[in-house]
This record gives sequence, structure tokens and C-alpha cells, in this order.
Amino acid sequence: MKKEKFSYTRISCYQTCRWQYYLKYVKKFKVERTDNTKLANKGIAFHEIAEKYKSTDTIDDLTAAMRARATELSVDPDEYDYREAAIRLRWFMDDFVGKKDVKLERESWVNGELAGVPFCGALDVRLTPKKKDGAEHYYIVDFKSGKKADTESYRSQLALYTHLWGAELGFDFDETIERVHAYAFFPLAVVPRASTLSDEERAMESLKKIHFTIDQLMAYVAQYEDTVAKIKAEDWSRIDEKSADISFVCSFCQFAGIPKGFHPVVHCARTYDNGVKAPRSIKIGLDAR
Ligand code: SF4
Repeated sequence: MKKEKFSYTRISCYQTCRWQYYLKYVKKFKVERTDNTKLANKGIAFHEIAEKYKSTDTIDDLTAAMRARATELSVDPDEYDYREAAIRLRWFMDDFVGKKDVKLERESWVNGELAGVPFCGALDVRLTPKKKDGAEHYYIVDFKSGKKADTESYRSQLALYTHLWGAELGFDFDETIERVHAYAFFPLAVVPRASTLSDEERAMESLKKIHFTIDQLMAYVAQYEDTVAKIKAEDWSRIDEKSADISFVCSFCQFAGIPKGFHPVVHCARTYDNGVKAPRSIKIGLDAR
């Protein structure tokens, strides 16, 4: 049987709500709904255009493409500054990436193993040096659609990707810290004192390097291994809805507000009882992956 892969999303799902983890990864239920996808969709509109970026694209082209895609995804394009996102994207691709002697990969995968289970990570951008001299540098950039260019909540995710790629390259922790560099790029974030900055300065402000010490990277890896051990030790036949844990994650959760009785297994009575109501039109199926 094919071994199921673990990922940052899967681990953080377990850490935030065991009931969601049970429904999504143990029972493999999937809910089709569009009522709570706006926050994800505003970023998808940027991601999809960034994925196809060509150096001949103008700011107007990029802005129009992002706005059109946002509209298709039921996001009001006037709610987010896609023109600013286009300006930052051009700077990122032409200056940050374009001035390095690297091979650019968009939407690629890094794979590895932690605690005896396979792990994968989806990289928005990965830059591999063209010349290998034993001291070359590697770059990972993750696109984030938050309003604040704050890296704190992304450190754990980027630590995983850094470690997986370092291991894939055959690096130990020391070498990984030295040679694999992680960044978060915030094309839609509000930049402080934006009106006093040039286009280039605002774009630079929205690209944040995430620094790790060796101890920090090792601690993140140990946390992932610890969580995998906890997941393996779970007796899922004993879980019930009391494990549902309300947090900010519920705003994106496919199971939010589904009342008891709507489906034999799938519900989140805890959010339903707190006033979240899923539309009756949702469809529940099994995730085929
Ligand atoms: S809506 Fe919240 S409490 Fe309910 S399953 Fe999802 S994450 Fe857990």
C-alpha cells in the first residue's frame, strides 16, 4: 500500500483540532463549499498569475489578470490592492530572482522523511544555483497573502521546508543553515509608511528573510517528529466531537457549522452551537487522493 505523505498542513491540522484531523485525514471526508473560501481565494488569484509570470508582462497586464481571476473566484477585486501586488511581483521576479545566477522553479515539491514517515512540502518558488562550487546558496520563497508582513506564524512551516531541502541536498544542520535560505513574500501586505517609499522599497519591505539558528531548526524538526509520534499513537476509534477545538482556523475549516444529523459522521456541532451555520447546499464526499 502507498504510504501517505505528511505535510505542514497535515501536522498543523492535528495540532489545532483533532476532530478536523480525524474527519479530514483519517476518514478522508471532503466538503464542497464556497462560503468560507474568500481569504484563501484572494491569495490564489495572486499565486496563479505569479506562476505564469513572464518578463514581458506589464504591471497593467498583471493587475488585470489578478483582478479577473479574483472575480472568477468570487472575491471583490476592489477589496485588495492587486496593482500593488503586481508591482511587487515584478520587482521580485526581475530583481530578486533575475539578478541571481539560478534556475527558477515554480510550484515544485520537496520530499523527505521524518520520524519514519514520508513528508512533502509545496514550494512556491525554489532557486537552485546554476554553478556548483561546494559553497553555493539555495533559496526557498513562500508567497503569503496576509495583510501584515509578519513572519512569526510561518517559521515552523519554512523550517520544515528548509530542513527537507537541506536533507535532500545531503546537508547536515550546519550546512543547511549556511546554504539554504528561506523567505516569505507578502504581495498584499500593508507596508508601514508606504506613501514615503518607492515602488522598489515597498517591494523589498514585503520580502522577509526567515533566520534560523541550528538549535531553532533542530527544535522545529523535533516538534514535527514528536507530533508524528502522537498521531501514530492515537486510537481513532475513541475520538468524538468533544475533540473539536475552536480557534481562528475554524474560519477556513471545511467542516465549520455543519450541524449534527446533516451527515452520519461529518459535523462540527461545536461551531454550529456557537452560531456558525454552514449552507444547506454543501456537498460531502470522500477525498480521492
Ligand atoms: S470548525 Fe473548528 S472546531 Fe470544527 S472541526 Fe473545524 S477546526 Fe475543528
